[in-house]
Amino acid sequence: MLQVQPHYALAGLNTFGMQVYAARYATFDREEELAGLQQEPAAAAGILVLGGGSNMLFTGDVPQLVVHNRIKGIVKLREDGQHVWLQVGAGEIWHELVLYAVAAGYAGIENLSLIPGTVGAAPIQNIGAYGVEAKDVIEAVRYYDIASGAFTVLGNEDCRFAYRDSIFKRELKNKVIITAVTFRLNKIPVFNTSYGNIQQELDAMGVTELSIRAISDAVIRIRSSKLPDPREIGNAGSFFKNPEVDTDLYLALKAQYPTIPGYALPGHITKIPAGWLIEQCGWKGYRKDNYGVHKLQALVLVNYGGASGQDIADLSLTIMNSVAERFGIQLEREVQII
Ligand SMILES: Cc1cc2nc3c(=O)[nH]c(=O)nc-3n(C[C@H](O)[C@H](O)[C@H](O)COP(=O)(O)OP(=O)(O)OC[C@H]3O[C@@H](n4cnc5c(N)ncnc54)[C@H](O)[C@@H]3O)c2cc1C
Repeated sequence: MLQVQPHYALAGLNTFGMQVYAARYATFDREEELAGLQQEPAAAAGILVLGGGSNMLFTGDVPQLVVHNRIKGIVKLREDGQHVWLQVGAGEIWHELVLYAVAAGYAGIENLSLIPGTVGAAPIQNIGAYGVEAKDVIEAVRYYDIASGAFTVLGNEDCRFAYRDSIFKRELKNKVIITAVTFRLNKIPVFNTSYGNIQQELDAMGVTELSIRAISDAVIRIRSSKLPDPREIGNAGSFFKNPEVDTDLYLALKAQYPTIPGYALPGHITKIPAGWLIEQCGWKGYRKDNYGVHKLQALVLVNYGGASGQDIADLSLTIMNSVAERFGIQLEREVQII
């Protein structure tokens, strides 16, 4: 049975720092507490699952019942000579799982160090950074189906992972509550230092022998120097996805804008950094009143304090329109607008 609280302040529970209220709010730290959730009178206006609030922009008070996932626990299910399988409670903090894996010598998620949020949200947008995505290590996702009250386990293939995408952002959006994720990590590490400036950072750190910890430390150093800390400036990381376009369109743009960066993907597709497109449109460092675009990261929209979520959502649309007008590319938001 959930302990539901009315008119609950969400200001400290979202990294944009939006000062909004949930009409009703409850936390849960055991799967059993979810039984009969659909029948709760408080759920009549719908249910919103909250993890770390680091991929959300609240544009106003939330009429739904906000259920805050706090299910903890890391259980080693099994291991063989090469791999270890961990079942992790969805309310565990993602970076704490990374630190646990680093300390235990389990490889696979060290490149994903310092990504904010919970383990349960990691499969939703298939979090990724520095050449690694959550889908590379997720074996299965366990969820509670709100309508039926049943628990289901989906295997990796059935999660339909793609770049910042999965079945949880599509058919199952707002219909399920992820309660646990099973990861298969490597006891024999395969290091990935080719992406971004990891190697450069390792060199600067004087690392001569690669290790899981060295890579995690390098990623932490790079991220801390590049991304605004939400405790200081409200933000939700990259606000937009990097668009993947037909390579013919990319080449046509390259003829016109020779410095446009692009990364070739299979299937005649090229990924273009959204930050570059936004910067070219003159938005980097833009500020209006108490919100704007970060001065170092054109991909990051920020709340300098007391901004309204609607103003930031409107700014994101204006940016999308200006990129579409100039480059003929429709940006997509990565952040969930609530
Ligand atoms: C500074 C900063 C840097 C970031 N860098 C990266 C990065 O490098 N790569 C990256 O991929 N992301 C990045 N992000 C985005 C964010 O960290 C991830 O999307 C993260 O997975 C969100 O986790 P959360 O628990 O905060 O989710 P929330 O923001 O609480 O929720 C996000 C969405 O998932 C749903 N949800 C959450 N938990 C559950 C659950 N248990 N069951 C069902 N639905 C659920 C919510 O309803 C919502 O729709 C960054 C964010 C910030 C602030």
